[in-house]
Amino acid sequence: MPANRYITKNGQISIVGIADAGMSCNHPADNPADPRWQKWPTQVTVPTSFRGSGRPINVVTCFEEAMALVHRSVGDARNPQCDSYFLELGRGRAQSVRRTLTALLGYKLIFFRNGSANPADDFRVTDGSAGVTMGEVLSSNNVAGNAIISISAYAARSPVSLAATIVHELAHVAGAPGRPADGDWRAMNEAARAPYFGAENALKVCGFTRQHNPEIYGEILDRFQRRMKITGLA
Ligand SMILES: [Zn+2]
Repeated sequence: MPANRYITKNGQISIVGIADAGMSCNHPADNPADPRWQKWPTQVTVPTSFRGSGRPINVVTCFEEAMALVHRSVGDARNPQCDSYFLELGRGRAQSVRRTLTALLGYKLIFFRNGSANPADDFRVTDGSAGVTMGEVLSSNNVAGNAIISISAYAARSPVSLAATIVHELAHVAGAPGRPADGDWRAMNEAARAPYFGAENALKVCGFTRQHNPEIYGEILDRFQRRMKITGLA
């Protein structure tokens, strides 16, 4: 078993559905009727067509290693702009509720899974037009210092992928605007779109340049090799 140093640190992080992940803080109930509020299984297997390894991954270990990567990156002298970038994301807010990434790592973070009620169905999509949401901030409170975040098992295909997704979602908590609806997005010109890259661009200043996806939508293939779009990237 990993030491779970980051998962259990101050009891701050809950991975909903996994009892041994240091769930010392209260979290809302899961909601099997809503894809955003699903429990995590203890393991996920991300198929190779979804850029996974095809082998089972221990979810607690993956979160633990991902959080360790985020802590390491934000403290890395090679990423001197990371914290100030996060403060800048909150420029429309009162000074007292602007947050660095370092500060956000001290929040009480609750991670739900975004997907099917049965985790085994997460990668059994039969509708080629379906989207895969990488992550979503369900709620956050910058005064109380907490956030509820939903993350796809797809994002947990590796620690570094999960780390990058967590940084992206925490950028939203810091103030990066979420993406508008598809139709609105397509109608926008480049200047109007620019702010919506704020969350994904956090990866470039916080040590996850290789995970940064400059595309508006990425694409992956379902099990029938049909194109699926990835949302929640920008
Ligand atoms: Zn986003």
